Amino acid sequence: MKPPPFDYSAPDTLEEALFLLGEAGDEARPLAGGQSLVPLLSLRLARPSRLVDLAGITTLTTLGAADGHLAVGAMVRERQAERDERVRRLAPVLADALPLIGHPAIRSRGTIGGSLSHADPAAELPAVALVLEAELVAESRARGRRSIPAADFFTGYFTTALAPDELLTTLRVPSSAPGTGWAVDEVARRHGDFAIVGAAAMVRLDTSTGRIDEARVALAGVGDTPVRLAETEQMLAGAEPADEAFADAAEDAATRLSPAADVHGSAAYRRHVAGVLARRTLKLAAQRAREAA
Ligand SMILES: Cc1cc2nc3c(=O)[nH]c(=O)nc-3n(C[C@H](O)[C@H](O)[C@H](O)COP(=O)(O)OP(=O)(O)OC[C@H]3O[C@@H](n4cnc5c(N)ncnc54)[C@H](O)[C@@H]3O)c2cc1C
Repeated sequence: MKPPPFDYSAPDTLEEALFLLGEAGDEARPLAGGQSLVPLLSLRLARPSRLVDLAGITTLTTLGAADGHLAVGAMVRERQAERDERVRRLAPVLADALPLIGHPAIRSRGTIGGSLSHADPAAELPAVALVLEAELVAESRARGRRSIPAADFFTGYFTTALAPDELLTTLRVPSSAPGTGWAVDEVARRHGDFAIVGAAAMVRLDTSTGRIDEARVALAGVGDTPVRLAETEQMLAGAEPADEAFADAAEDAATRLSPAADVHGSAAYRRHVAGVLARRTLKLAAQRAREAA
């Protein structure tokens, strides 16, 4: 099918883009890499009267490290971030998650900001943003700039805390303490498919006792939003980083989930896979934390 008719603007500056979005209200949609929005238009599942193309706004394509944070501009392409040495060094779980998204051709167009704003509950980056406790910087003409913790950003099925006149401008990732390990893993039917279930984990070890100081786990594909497993994390705080502790915590986590069934898997299957991936990623993150200590 063809998209319905729309006006098209290609501003060069963030100010101009925010002006256009503010003027049009919820009639306009930002266009980033188009890898999700263009299919939605063609299927007529989205009918914006105006597209505001962000591709010409060079200030949204910067990537750098400052103030103890890695800052990734919303229009940084997934493929560019995946190949960036600073992303690999400062946010290894993000670097490991990016190649799991679709195929190189999709990642060459798809952007970090587009994936987070699209908020597909099965997507890798929203779960990774949660586990990283990242901040998402948003800006509008009417209300200026604000920083939204990832925990507050994903508010529902394909829905975020962004207002229609607001743009996501930057993903800010805090740097991690010594003795921290990260891991990400997923189960998909074929390489490049969306995950049926995905998991991202962090383990930080107390460098004097070797016990778990802090553990985090976030899942994709088990609810309307990415899910952080708070109870599992609490079970692990202060524990020895042993296989049994991860197995018990992951088993407990699986019982707390209520995923929906679909053609790719039943609720029981998703719960099982979530438990397996939570255990696997926690164990690998702990191993990496020991190596990093
Ligand atoms: C065949 C195929 C396979 C894929 N597989 C995967 C996969 O395995 N995992 C995965 O996570 N994704 C997958 N994707 C989606 C891909 O990652 C997209 O790039 C991503 O979801 C959207 O990014 P985009 O830059 O293309 O955004 P667009 O499609 O341009 O926009 C997506 C949405 O976000 C909004 N938006 C974009 N940028 C901003 C911004 N800065 N501020 C506010 N709103 C904004 C748009 O208005 C739109 O509503 C796949 C896509 C295809 C076509």
